[in-house]
Formats: sequence, C-alpha cells, structure tokens
Amino acid sequence: MTDQCCDEFLSRPCTWVNGPIIIGAGPSGLAVAAGLRRQGVPFVVLERADCIASLWRRCTYDRLKLHLPKRFCQLPHLPFPDEFPEYPSKSQFVDYLDAYAARFEIRPRFGHSVRSARYDAATGLWRVVSAVGGAEVEYIGRWLVVATGENAEKVVPELEGLGEQFGGDVSHVCDYKSGERYSGKRVLVVGCGNSGMEISLDLCDHGASPAMVVRDSVRKSRQNQILKQNSVQFLPSNPISALKIESWPPQVHVLPREVMGKSTFELAVLLLKWLPERLVDKILMAVAWAALGNVAKLGLKRPSVGPLELKNTHGRTPVLDIGALAKIKSGEIKVVPGIKRFFPGKVELVDGQMLDVDSVILATGYRSNVPQWLQGCDDFFRKEDGLPTTPFPNGWKGSCGLYAVGFTKRGLSGAAADSVRIAGDIGEAWRAETKLAKRRS
Ligand SMILES: Cc1cc2nc3c(=O)[nH]c(=O)nc-3n(C[C@H](O)[C@H](O)[C@H](O)COP(=O)(O)OP(=O)(O)OC[C@H]3O[C@@H](n4cnc5c(N)ncnc54)[C@H](O)[C@@H]3O)c2cc1C
Repeated sequence: MTDQCCDEFLSRPCTWVNGPIIIGAGPSGLAVAAGLRRQGVPFVVLERADCIASLWRRCTYDRLKLHLPKRFCQLPHLPFPDEFPEYPSKSQFVDYLDAYAARFEIRPRFGHSVRSARYDAATGLWRVVSAVGGAEVEYIGRWLVVATGENAEKVVPELEGLGEQFGGDVSHVCDYKSGERYSGKRVLVVGCGNSGMEISLDLCDHGASPAMVVRDSVRKSRQNQILKQNSVQFLPSNPISALKIESWPPQVHVLPREVMGKSTFELAVLLLKWLPERLVDKILMAVAWAALGNVAKLGLKRPSVGPLELKNTHGRTPVLDIGALAKIKSGEIKVVPGIKRFFPGKVELVDGQMLDVDSVILATGYRSNVPQWLQGCDDFFRKEDGLPTTPFPNGWKGSCGLYAVGFTKRGLSGAAADSVRIAGDIGEAWRAETKLAKRRS
C-alpha cells in the first residue's frame, strides 16, 4: 500500500463484505440480490436514496403504468400477483418490489451515495467509497455489481435562452406528477418519447395546451393549419437557423400498444422466433400504418430504420401509443419542430415560428452515472454514455469480479435475464472460494 492509500484507509470506517457489493436498489439490484439470497450468498446493497425503487417512487408521474404486459416486467423467482391487471400501475409495481425485497430479505443500506469504486490489483479486491451524511464509509469485497441504472441522472439539454431569458417555469419530467398545476397554461414539452407523449396527453386531460417538440417534424400542410387556427405567430423562416439541428429530441417510432387485443410487443417477440429482424420491422411498420395511419402527416416523421433495428442499434424505445395520437390528430396536442432559442415568455423554432409559452417540461430522458464514480476497468463501461461496451447479451460480466445489470436498453426483461446470469456466476465463484478458505483453515 502507498502512503496515500494508507491514509485513506485509516481515515474512514471500513467494512469487509464476504460476498458481492451491489450498488443500486432498483429492480436490477433487487433481482441480483434475490438470486444470491436463494443460494445463501451474503451481499451488501448500497443505495443513495432512502427507499428501494427510488426512480419509480420519486421520479415518475402519477398516471404511469408499465408500458409492457406484466409477464415481460416481472423479476425472477416471484411472478406478479394474478389479480394485477395486464399493465400494472406505478403503485402496484412499487408494492410488488416492496414485497419482493421482503420475500428475499433484502435490506439495502440507504443513504449511501457511491462516490468511487476502484479495483485494487495488488489485493484483488474492490474498494467502494460511499458518502453517508457528511462522512465517508468504505466497503471492500471481491465482487462488484453495478446496478445504478440507465436512468441515474436526468439529461438537461443546453437550449439557448432557456436559463437566462425565458423567465417561465422550467422543469424536468422527473419532477412531473400530474397536469393539474398546468391547467389553462401553454406548455412546451421537449421530447417525444413515451414520457413526452404521455405527459402531453395528461396535460390535455387537465385543461392545459401542450406543444410537443419533435425534431424533423413535417412542418407543412395540416400541422401549420392547426397552428394557425390556434393563432400562433409565424415569422419568416431563416435558412441559416433552419440548418441548426438540435440534439433533442431524437426521432422515434410510434406503434399501437395493442393490435386486435394483443400486445404489439408480444407480437414482435413471437415473430422474432421465426423471422429475421428486418422482416419483423416491416410487419410492425405495416401494422402501425394500418392502426394509426400516416403519422408523418401529423409531424411525426418515421425514422428510416425499423423500430427493432433502431432499438438495438441506438437503444431508442418505440413509443407505444395510449391515446396521445388521437389528441395530436384533433389538434389538442400540437407537434412543433426543433427549438432555436428562447425569449421572455416565447420560444423560436427552427422554422422561424414563435410560440407563446408559460412553462417548459424537459422530457429529455436520463443517462447512466457510472463514469462519474467507477475507476479503472476502462474497457468495460463506455466513457461517453456509461453503458457496457459489449452489447447484449454479453455485457453483464467484466473482468476482476465486475458485473453490470440493467444496462441492456431492454427494460425489466433485460435486467431479469442479466440478474440470473450474474447471481449464478457469483454463486459459483463464492462457493469455490469459501470451500478453499475452509480447507485452508
Ligand atoms: C418512466 C419510465 C417508465 C418505464 N417503464 C418500463 C416498463 O413499463 N417496462 C420495462 O421493462 N421498463 C420500463 N422502464 C425502464 C426500466 O425498466 C426502469 O428504468 C427500471 O427502473 C430499471 O431498473 P434499474 O434497477 O436498472 O434502475 P433504477 O430503477 O434506476 O435503479 C437504480 C438505483 O440505483 C441508485 N443509484 C444510482 N446511482 C447511485 C450511486 N452512485 N450510489 C448509490 N445508489 C445509486 C438509484 O438511486 C436507484 O435507486 C421505464 C423507465 C422509465 C424512466
């Protein structure tokens, strides 16, 4: 040990963990912990919040339901109760996770925000430092499971004039609970993913007037008519600004949540058993066309690659429509192109339109925070986005006892699949080491 290491070691309380250290008590961390508990492997779960599933409890809106049918969202070893509906509500999902933690006796150490995790090659151990109140605590163990999620930090894009000029109310979707407080207001929703679409719908239901920003939206014909009807001011378009492309929001596919009473997701999973991805994409787009019509006319230009290919190559989840499209068709939700800049109480769009806006909600997503605290093992997580470099299904195991769960861009089913592999792998290694230690002693 170097002098600096020695000083650090002596300066804070240190706990030896006879098993893996799991960081994060969301669904992914809980699923790994349950798999370990079943094998009798001890573990410690460190969680920065004061509860399990903090994303679901604290950062989601009231009307949220699971986007996918429940059988694709349950964690290993405990199915959802039969009486739960096909698409459980947020509170039912949280109840399920509470029951899951109780069933497998998972008691995370709350209020532990991990600041650094470093592999010490000399000892072959992971050293994890977390902030607890004003102090620091260190955990040392042989295995590290990263379960901090793809949604650990909110993404807030830099939009010219939003901070210093706009002057209205600006928030991120993680703070949005319901449209009640926006009643009668003109709200600009930046982002057209599942959250952007659903909160636009919720805003309509609460008497607000949402305009949803969709980059590369089709700006002519019917959409402009709707905007004119709603007395939006038009400015002559500026060819230079029109060339400026915002990075938010990206294009997405919109699919019906169900086709003839069957989940579209389930249909895709079924077709993928027999057909190649490209062909399934074509079928899905035909189904979407038949069920929803030509959404490009509404300003929602379809990406050039299919929904499954886009998901697998760029991690962009298709939007499963649950009613927002009907509101777009009726003109209650406006679709507007990218943002150029904000002025006091107004926004200028890339095509020169000016909109009067009272509030802005950034439905611009989340990102992983792993690069902020994981040190060493450079090749396992990418610096740019904090996701594993190796794609699914092989991104769950790194070197030196490092594991990643819940970074597959495949939601809860991806996390469940990872967790089974990780728990099995660590269980085997732990038993081998324990046997060896017993023999030695
Ligand atoms: C609005 C929304 C709806 C979704 N709906 C679905 C759906 O219907 N079906 C589906 O399959 N997927 C869905 N997903 C995607 C995904 O399944 C969820 O995000 C799920 O919560 C991921 O679980 P997780 O445990 O990997 O991450 P999280 O739930 O984000 O849990 C990670 C935990 O790690 C903690 N943490 C982070 N950093 C640190 C740190 N440095 N130190 C200590 N603790 C830390 C966090 O506080 C958090 O509790 C949805 C996502 C969102 C945002």
